[in-house]
Amino acid sequence: MDANTASPSAGKCDGCATADVPLTKISLGRDFFGRVYDRLSPNADLSPKWYCDACSVEKNLQRDFRDIKSEFDKLSKEAASALSQGDQLERATLRVKEIAAMIAANAIKRTLLKPDEVATLARSLESRRG
Ligand SMILES: [Zn+2]
Repeated sequence: MDANTASPSAGKCDGCATADVPLTKISLGRDFFGRVYDRLSPNADLSPKWYCDACSVEKNLQRDFRDIKSEFDKLSKEAASALSQGDQLERATLRVKEIAAMIAANAIKRTLLKPDEVATLARSLESRRG
């Protein structure tokens, strides 16, 4: 490990709070729609956090889920939404289904994502797509 990926010595995962496992630093970078994240995200997501392997996967899924959900909420209110552009609704629907499938297959720990919220969004996107 080099200085950028080494775990903090008193490291605990910021997702599931497991200690004594290898941790990865996650900063969110760009959102699902390719926008720079820091103008849109809550302050809590601005500073990189440390996650174990399982939670780092889930953190990326959670980021996409939140991006899609917030754009879908705008779409539902007939406001300007990234989902009304091009094939973004299609792309977002597939992504949420993929996340739901990973939850169903127990491929993630569900520390950060709530299965019922993901399922609800998947259904809403599907019905919107018609
Ligand atoms: Zn974890």
